[in-house]
Amino acid sequence: MRRRILQIAGVLGLLAVSVAAAILFACPYCRAFASRAVATPLATFYIEHRWLRYAEGAFLVYYPAGGAIADNPRAWLKPRLDAFQANCRYLGVDCNFGITFYVFDSREQGARYGLSLGFAAPFLRRVYTSCNQTPGHELTHVIVGQAYQDRHIRSALVREGLATLLNGEDWLDFDRASFESVRDTYLEASDLLGMNFWWRDVDYYIAASFVRYLVDVYGLEKLKNLLGQGPMDEKTAFAAVYGKPFEGLFTEWKDRLKKKGVEAGFADQ
Ligand SMILES: [Zn+2]
Repeated sequence: MRRRILQIAGVLGLLAVSVAAAILFACPYCRAFASRAVATPLATFYIEHRWLRYAEGAFLVYYPAGGAIADNPRAWLKPRLDAFQANCRYLGVDCNFGITFYVFDSREQGARYGLSLGFAAPFLRRVYTSCNQTPGHELTHVIVGQAYQDRHIRSALVREGLATLLNGEDWLDFDRASFESVRDTYLEASDLLGMNFWWRDVDYYIAASFVRYLVDVYGLEKLKNLLGQGPMDEKTAFAAVYGKPFEGLFTEWKDRLKKKGVEAGFADQ
């Protein structure tokens, strides 16, 4: 009997390993997630013991000696502090916390540590970034993660859209890039939701343009309500907050984008 149980356990174990391997093989996002889960704590431990550290208030910056920001880490941090204050103000969040930045010279250097830059660990208030990434994107993930905790909506579209919108770049560029993307590729409403966002490799500019449309047309308070919808199904969350199906919002956004494209003169470029 005992042998029989061991045999069954062995078969089930092999099956589980095979399924996990198949998922990791077939899904680049899952592979990145799994490698990040293992590499991040190891890299963090190493960096905190070997790299240089600059502190300003509750903010910490780790950077390699002789690296791109080694001459003046303060100058690198300054636009991040500005973006932090501006984004906290914009979102009406009481930001009485700091962020720890791990600043790599390049994405390639991050890859040598097993990290796919940049990304944030919002609950740990950490940002892993290359030195030339836009100032506001990753820290917006931290601000929103801290503000909403486990009520934060599980929507890549909303999370990445907002972080890209508040990354410090010109807003019109998002609409231009989205217009060209929508014109050149066939995009359905469902492409933006759930894991499809990652499977279809949806451009972050599209997400930013969509979130900006929500703010412009329906107001910031509704977006903040959406951000706090927790693990609810995205479609249900959109319908609960905006009183209409996601597909309707998607069509409105696309129509507005076409109109803006004509008005701004980039429709026929
Ligand atoms: Zn992001």
